Amino acid sequence: MSIRFKVILPYLLLTLIVAVTGVYVVTSLVSNSLQERLTNQLLEAGRMVSDDFARQEISHIETARIVAYTTGLAEALEAGDRAGLAGLAQPLASGLDIESLSVIDRQGVESFYLVKLADGNYFVPGVPSGLEAMPIVQSLLLADNAQAAPRRALVYNAVIKKYYYYSALPIELNNRLAGVVLVGTSFDTIMPYLKSTSLADVILYDESGRAIATTLAGQSADESFLTAFSISEDEYRQVVESKGNIAGENFELESRWYSLARSPLQVGGDRLGAFAVILPLDFVLQPGAVSRNNYILLFTAAMFGVIVIGYGISRLLINPIYALVRASQAITAGDLTRRTGVNSSDEIGVLANTFDAMTANLQQRTLELERANQTLAQMDKTKSSFIQVAAHELRTPLTLLSGYTQLLDNKAKNNPDLQTISKGLLEGSVRMQEVVNSMLDISRIDSKMLKALPDKASLASILQRVEKTFQAAWDERKLKFVTTGISELPLIYADPDLLYKLLYHLVMNAIKYTPDGGTITLRGEVIEDDHEISLTVEDTGIGIDLEHQHLIFEKFYQTGEVQLHSSGRTKFKGGGPGLGLAIARGIVEAHGGRIWVESPGYNEETLPGSCFYVRLPLEAKRVA
Ligand code: ADP
Repeated sequence: MSIRFKVILPYLLLTLIVAVTGVYVVTSLVSNSLQERLTNQLLEAGRMVSDDFARQEISHIETARIVAYTTGLAEALEAGDRAGLAGLAQPLASGLDIESLSVIDRQGVESFYLVKLADGNYFVPGVPSGLEAMPIVQSLLLADNAQAAPRRALVYNAVIKKYYYYSALPIELNNRLAGVVLVGTSFDTIMPYLKSTSLADVILYDESGRAIATTLAGQSADESFLTAFSISEDEYRQVVESKGNIAGENFELESRWYSLARSPLQVGGDRLGAFAVILPLDFVLQPGAVSRNNYILLFTAAMFGVIVIGYGISRLLINPIYALVRASQAITAGDLTRRTGVNSSDEIGVLANTFDAMTANLQQRTLELERANQTLAQMDKTKSSFIQVAAHELRTPLTLLSGYTQLLDNKAKNNPDLQTISKGLLEGSVRMQEVVNSMLDISRIDSKMLKALPDKASLASILQRVEKTFQAAWDERKLKFVTTGISELPLIYADPDLLYKLLYHLVMNAIKYTPDGGTITLRGEVIEDDHEISLTVEDTGIGIDLEHQHLIFEKFYQTGEVQLHSSGRTKFKGGGPGLGLAIARGIVEAHGGRIWVESPGYNEETLPGSCFYVRLPLEAKRVA
């Protein structure tokens, strides 16, 4: 995962979590406060309904008092003068705008009964209303107390087929109970009034929990509609016992949601039943939903804002890192002119500047190294040219010298003193010729002019030549020369003269760096898998320091002090121009092979020895 995503993903996730939590918290706070407002409104509406009933009661009692204390009414009631009673009561009813008036005598017989009809006219039904059987009337009659407190109840008037709220008051005559007066107001009047004052819909329940009236469906609330809103007796009891505590409850009606709260309905000492106030839930739901949507919108917009800002910040942070990565990749690919291009002063800017400074240093060093390399290459070229020129220039006088030395040697046959001199001269010129030949070989190798001329070559016979060349050394230095596997080697397709030179130099070195009495072993074997021939020249000599092992194949490289070298090419630690191994490597590479050395180290006491390995392809390639 790229660093950009590593930075942005947790940031996005956090933003999302914060936004969702924010929306949740804010909307729940809003809906809680709306819910609280609804509950308060329900409480308020409930209080209004209770107050309305109290007001209604006061007006009933006032009216009933006027009726009860109307002069002559109690007397007419006592005397059973129904006509007189009606003559007094009827004008009172219309004057006081009483909707239902009933006067009951002490014996519990209804002596006067009148109702106001919907059209405003008063009507005296010929049949008794049956109101005298009401418990509140019976209890007043039973108490037989003219001063008894008024009673009230919600009653269904079977004659009018309407519910009424009745208040009952004792009628007094000479400090005695003469009867009871009942003043009633129909629900048709009460219900709209309750609704208009409480600003809520209302349901009234009787004492069994049955819904008896509601404003919910206007006037069209029929029996079944009401039944749907009735509550069980248990529920009713709970409401009554809650002592005015509102129990909120939600319901759906004609695809609109409402919240409902019930309270007991109590006026004076009488429990009339219970009522419920109802408010539409749109009050909570709609504003809640609207505000939730608003908050979601707000938080989404804020989230996008945060993401955009975050993206911008991450770009500011990460782009310099990307620039650093791209610059380092370009530099690794070799473009040292590349710079990061970051110019900020923060930590990344410091890092980028340091990186640029490092690259500039590197570029400068590389340039210097390249220059030094060029100088070295030029010097090497000059050295090679010198070797070439020197070798060529030395060759002609050397031929002359050896010719004359030969002549001198012939003439000095009978003069022993002169013969010693001529022998010395001969040996010297041969040695010089060898050195000059080596110089010529190395200049050919340097100028890539050494060409192998492959032919069928027998390593066994080449080795015989080498062994013979050093015959004097074996005897003189008491060295053992051992060969293994050479005679079994197949013919190899290679340049026999070059192979001779190769073995000549390796064996000569082995002789030079092995003390008298040592052993030089030459092994040969075919490495089938690689189609190669392996030749190893191992000695029991002084060995080679590990740190010199990779350098001795360079021309003129010699370990130790040149001055300390003894003269003579096969003497122990005999001197040499330092070209042998460079020529050996040139020859091996001209055949497409490899050469290397292994030695535990240099030690003239313990004589760890050295082993030179040569690998030549069986079919030597012609390498230019
Ligand atoms: P030189 O003319 O000095 O022998 P070479 O190129 O043949 O030059 O060898 C380079 C150096 O490698 C020698 O000076 C010597 O120190 C080391 N060297 C080569 N062969 C051996 C060997 N068999 N044992 C120890 N040292 C060796």
